[in-house]
Amino acid sequence: GKQGPKPAPPLEGIKDVKAIIAIASGKGGVGKSTTAVNLALALARRGLNVGLLDADIYGPSVPRLVGAQGKPDVAGKIIEPIIAHGIKTMSIGYLVDQEKAMVWRGPMVGSAVTQLLGDVHWGDLDILVVDMPPGTGDAQLTLSQKVPLAGAVIVSTPQDIALIDARKGLAMFRQVDVPIFGIIENMSYFLCPSCGDRADIFGTGGARETAAALGADFLGEIPLHMDIRETSDQGTPVVSVSPDGPQARAYLDIAEKIA
Ligand code: ADP
Repeated sequence: GKQGPKPAPPLEGIKDVKAIIAIASGKGGVGKSTTAVNLALALARRGLNVGLLDADIYGPSVPRLVGAQGKPDVAGKIIEPIIAHGIKTMSIGYLVDQEKAMVWRGPMVGSAVTQLLGDVHWGDLDILVVDMPPGTGDAQLTLSQKVPLAGAVIVSTPQDIALIDARKGLAMFRQVDVPIFGIIENMSYFLCPSCGDRADIFGTGGARETAAALGADFLGEIPLHMDIRETSDQGTPVVSVSPDGPQARAYLDIAEKIA
């Protein structure tokens, strides 16, 4: 009979992972990584076994966001994930120094991501959260094809330009038949740390409208709040340090909609 292309061998590292979800954004700086980390922790608080893969090879931010340094244990070609705040994490940032990865070319980036999936001892996981690189270029497309994604979550700010990029992100996942869980509006409104007043700095409701127009679910709004930025900078994500506070609430509510 006719010989089709050989199917890619299954990746050993993720063989006991029940679901992989991608956190994506059309452009950088919208808070995708911050959202991915806090959502992963929020899912773990729901009693799930959670992993967090930083697929951003050029600009890994997970090590800083979870406050983890140091080198993972490596036995043969198996890399042990680094446990931080109760979840298993892996990032190129743990393995090579930044300046070196910065000059890598496309194929090396692709094989690095494959390695972070296949050679990492993820073990039994209910959910592996993947912090995708920003944008909708070839690297993102390849990744969405290579990784057996259960679904994607798009993070956007309320500003028009970010929303246009979010539309592109949505279109990209649809092109490769990855279900869209929905859109999150980050930096949705400003919560004043001293008076608690709300100000809609970038306008509001944009992501909700885009979601409705594109037939995607709207998953929720995350406020722009000093605590979220400061806890991220300190490597102690807000869902980990103040899970009962109002800032963590937004992530926990979204986690409940996802799983
Ligand atoms: P991206 O992954 O999209 O490039 P980051 O997650 O690195 O974006 O966030 C960019 C900056 O914005 C970081 O300094 C981060 O701490 C901050 N940030 C992200 N979301 C919020 C938020 N909801 N409130 C306050 N600061 C935020």
